[in-house]
Amino acid sequence: MMAAVLDAPGSLALLEVDDPVCPPGGLILEVEACSICSTDVKMLRAGQKDLVFPRILGHEISGTVSDRYGASPSVGERVQIFPGVTCGICPSCGRGAENHCKDMRIFGFNLDGGFAEYLVVPRNSVRNGGVNLIPDGMRFEEAALAEPLACCINAQDRVEVAEGDSVLIFGAGPAGILHALLSRERGASEVAMAEPLQVRADLAEALGADQVLSPLKEEFLDDAMDLTCRRGFDVIILASRDLAIDDDLLSLLAPRGRVSLFSGLPTHLASPGLDLNHIHYREEMVVGSYGCTPAQNRRALELISSGSIDVGRLITKRVSLGSILKGMEHAERRDGLKAVVTDFGG
Ligand SMILES: [Zn+2]
Ligand SMILES: [Zn+2]
Repeated sequence: MMAAVLDAPGSLALLEVDDPVCPPGGLILEVEACSICSTDVKMLRAGQKDLVFPRILGHEISGTVSDRYGASPSVGERVQIFPGVTCGICPSCGRGAENHCKDMRIFGFNLDGGFAEYLVVPRNSVRNGGVNLIPDGMRFEEAALAEPLACCINAQDRVEVAEGDSVLIFGAGPAGILHALLSRERGASEVAMAEPLQVRADLAEALGADQVLSPLKEEFLDDAMDLTCRRGFDVIILASRDLAIDDDLLSLLAPRGRVSLFSGLPTHLASPGLDLNHIHYREEMVVGSYGCTPAQNRRALELISSGSIDVGRLITKRVSLGSILKGMEHAERRDGLKAVVTDFGG
C-alpha cells in the first residue's frame, strides 16, 4: 500500500510499504479521511516528544472496515478511530482518564497512523472503545474532525465551561475556533477571541465569535476587559503556542476564573513567574489538558451528528495522499483552517 512516511524531521516521503495484516481481535481500516493537525506539522518540522521514527503520521482518522478478526464491527461499516490505544486495566483507564493510560500507544505517534491507504487497528483499540460507528449522514471528513473536537471537550470539561460563562480564547486556528463553537454550545454568554492574523480573525468572526481582538494592539487588555464590563472573563483558553502566561493574562480573569492550558508551550514560555497570591485571593484555577478520552470522542461524534457543531465549515483544503505536503503547507501558512487528506488513490 502507499503511505506517507516520516523518517526524520523534514523528511516525509510517499512510499510503497507492506500491506497490513489483520491482528488477532483487531481490524484493518481502509482510510477515507485523515485530517492534518498542527501536531503533524510540528512533527514534520521538528519532531515531538512521543513520536518514534520511522512513522506514518495521522491521528484524526475515519474509514471503512475492510478486514476484521473478531465479532464486530463488520466489514464495510463506517468508523472513526480514537487515536489512543489503551491498556484498559491500569488505574487511569479504570477511572475514565484513559488519556493518561500508562501503556498508551497513539496512532501517528508511536503506532502507524492514517496518512496511508490502510490502518492496522489493534485488539485493544476495538476492545476499549476506540472504534466508533459513524452515524448515518455524517461525512468521513466530518468524522475525522471528531478527534480535535474531543480534545476541546476535554479541556472544557476540565475548566467546566458552563451556561452564562464569558470565555476568551487565544488563537483562532482550527482548535481555537472549535473551542469557540463548543463554548457557544455549552451556553457561554460571551465568546471572544484574541488573534493577531487578520485572515484568521475574519474567519473566526464569520464562524461565530462575538468579538475578535488583536493581542498585538497596545489597548488589548483594556479592550478585552471592556467586553466583560471590567469584570474579567470566567474562562480563558490558550489555543496558541506562543503566548506568555503572566500577570497581565491573569488580570483578564474574573474572580474564580479558570485558565485552560490547551496548547503545549515552547520551553522558554513554560516556566513563567506568576503572582500566586493573585490566584490565591481571587480563587483562580490554571488547568492543563492533553488529548481526550474515548467517552469524549463519542460525545464529539454526537455533537457533530446532531448538528450542534458544524465542523465541516472548518475544512478549507482537501488534498490527496500524494500531495499531503500541500496540506501541511496549508496548515502551516495559517491562511485557512483545516486541511484533510480525502483521496488515498486506492
Ligand atoms: Zn490532533
Ligand atoms: Zn491503561
